[in-house]
Amino acid sequence: MKDCIFCKIIAGEIPCNKVYEDNNTLAFLDIKPVNKGHCLVLSKEHSENLLDTKEEHLKAIMITTKKVAEAVMEATKAQGFNIHINTKEAAGQVVNHTHFHIIPRFTKDNLKLWPQHSLEEKEMQEIAKKIKAAVI
Ligand code: AMP
Ligand code: ZN
Repeated sequence: MKDCIFCKIIAGEIPCNKVYEDNNTLAFLDIKPVNKGHCLVLSKEHSENLLDTKEEHLKAIMITTKKVAEAVMEATKAQGFNIHINTKEAAGQVVNHTHFHIIPRFTKDNLKLWPQHSLEEKEMQEIAKKIKAAVI
């Protein structure tokens, strides 16, 4: 894809701190890490986001993500990690080439995850019914 920054990284036109590569996937350091060792994993074939990524490519990304996450844990001595995927602008997706974030986590890193709240049981049932009906 001509104007895609990650396709340019894959093509070697823009440098990156590569940590892993195989025929189908590439992993490199995020230029602005949440924690040291934060990596991005992507398929070499362009797709905009999770929803338009072919299943075979998703499988390849997931397998590489597990492999690299184990290495990140080892290299950073992290106590855990988050796999994070932003999908579409409303969710904070900035680069429109499907990618998974691997964020090493430490018990005292003070990162807060999402604020959560409770819904009435009726609302829960309604939304569950709608989602169930929409699953293809
Ligand atoms: P998002 O699309 O919100 O999932 O995030 C895109 C991520 O790509 C951000 O965390 C950026 O810091 C990262 N990023 C953008 N450009 C580069 C680059 N040239 N090399 C490495 N990471 C990048
Ligand atoms: Zn791309």
